[in-house]
Parts: sequence; structure tokens; C-alpha cells
Amino acid sequence: LDNPNSPLFMNYQPKLNLQTGKVDKLEALIRWINNKNEFVNPEKFIHLAEQAGLIVTLTRWVILQVIKQIDQWNQRGYHFKVSINLSAQDIQNEHFVDYLLTTLVSHEVKPVQITLELTERDLANNEDLVIARLTHLKSLGFEVSVDDYGIGQSSLAKLKNLPVDELKIDKTFILTLDQCQQDQDIVASTISLGHKLGLRVVAEGIENKESLELLRQFQCNYAQGYYLSKPVSAEKFIEWYERNERPN
Ligand code: C2E
Ligand code: MG
Ligand code: MG
Repeated sequence: LDNPNSPLFMNYQPKLNLQTGKVDKLEALIRWINNKNEFVNPEKFIHLAEQAGLIVTLTRWVILQVIKQIDQWNQRGYHFKVSINLSAQDIQNEHFVDYLLTTLVSHEVKPVQITLELTERDLANNEDLVIARLTHLKSLGFEVSVDDYGIGQSSLAKLKNLPVDELKIDKTFILTLDQCQQDQDIVASTISLGHKLGLRVVAEGIENKESLELLRQFQCNYAQGYYLSKPVSAEKFIEWYERNERPN
């Protein structure tokens, strides 16, 4: 946003609202181009940042970039909600909520525009503190999503007690959904379970039309995947959005 030569920058991937047929949400995903001009896998460097105790600083940078971007879009008349990925250390950090709120206030962005994504594993770590913090965040108007749902070890009982709004079904169940009856059974029942627990359900990793159609039949709420759009820069996303969403 500020420095076009920064080796770190954010990409955005649209989420299609299957009830309205509109894109009204995005996921912010970090990118790093190293000094050999290669993309570094975010899963790898996020893991390293966690190990090195740098993740809280990195997440602050991400939060600032995303909130600035939302502010800029709001000013141009685009009111998207954006999901931000967090690590266990972020949600446990005592200054996290303050930082988030201060940054929002200084850019006049409201918490309703922010969804916080945490994996099942991050939620299970130091559970009492995490539940208290999520409860606080929800009372402030933020939404909370369980990322990579289905590959962790969280029991149904746990899910029931978590203050969350959304389940994000892991992409391993979605990538070849159209070709695998078992995945279809798992995904259909996860969606109906999510709905029974009052949660919105998102599927990520949709790579073809057939899988998208199945998710629509299963009444999944949101769809995200390469079939719709890969993660792209904020500018590219707006170009894509204008091409795809605006009737001429
Ligand atoms: P995630 O949060 O589960 O993000 C979804 C990943 O699925 C992204 O990978 C996205 O590019 C990929 N994806 C989306 N649709 C498709 C598809 O149709 N097919 C395939 N094969 N992949 C798809 P990405 O960007 O490489 O990020 C990987 C992981 O790195 C993320 O998984 C998240 O855990 C972490 N990450 C990314 N950005 C951040 C960040 O800003 N902060 C933190 N803490 N973690 C981040
Ligand atoms: Mg995510
Ligand atoms: Mg995921």
C-alpha cells in the first residue's frame, strides 16, 4: 500500500456469498518475495516467525495493511468484509485487542468489517484465555472463524463451547470434492452440523464448477477458491470485481 517495493505485501482472495451470488468478503493473505525474487511459502515463513517470536510484530503489520486497505476501499464506495489469519500467539498477546481497536479507530473502520481466522489447533492452545479473548472480541463486534476445520482434533463438544461465527472447511475436503463421494458426505454433513450449531460455513479450495455446484446444493454459505479467483493484489481484485460483479 505504501511502498511498492516492499518484499512483504498482502494479497486478497474473494469469497462468494452463495445465498446472494455476490462477493462481499475477502481473505487477506500475506506474500513475501525474497532477495532472489522468489515467492516464499507463507506457511513456512509464518511458522518460522512463530518460532522466532516475531509473529506478533508481523501480525501487527498485517492488521495495519488490511485496515488501511479497507479504509481506502470504503472511501471509494467498496464495503467488503475482510478475514485476517491469526496465530495462537496473537490471540494470547495481552496487547492484541488494544492494538486492533486503536488501529481501527484511527482509520475509522468498524469491527464488523473484520473476521479473525484461527485454526482449530490455535483455539485449543491455552483454551480458557482464548475463549475469554474471543468472547471479548465478539462483544466488540468482530467475527471469529475456525480455519482449516476438519483436519484438527477438535471434538464436537469443544466446538459447541467456542464463541465463533464461522466454520471454514479445510481445502483437503474440497479440492477434489466433485470426484470423491466420501468428501461429499463429509462436507454435506459438516455444513449441516455447522448450521445446527448456528454457524456460517465457508468452503475453501474450490477449483472447478462441479464442486461449486455441489456446495451450492449442500447450502454452504460462502465459497472461496482458484475457480473463482486466486489471491491477488488489492488493485487486481478490484479489476476482477468490476469485471465480474458489475452488470453493464
Ligand atoms: P489458510 O488461511 O487456510 O489460507 C488458505 C490457503 O489456501 C491460501 O494459501 C490460499 O492461497 C489457498 N487456496 C485458496 N483457494 C485455493 C484453491 O482453490 N486451491 C488451492 N490449491 N489452494 C487454494 P496461502 O496464501 O499459501 O497461505 C497458506 C497459509 O499461510 C494460510 O492458510 C494461513 O494459515 C497462512 N497465512 C497466510 N497469510 C497469513 C497471515 O497474514 N497471517 C498468518 N498468521 N498466517 C497467514
Ligand atoms: Mg485462513
Ligand atoms: Mg484454511
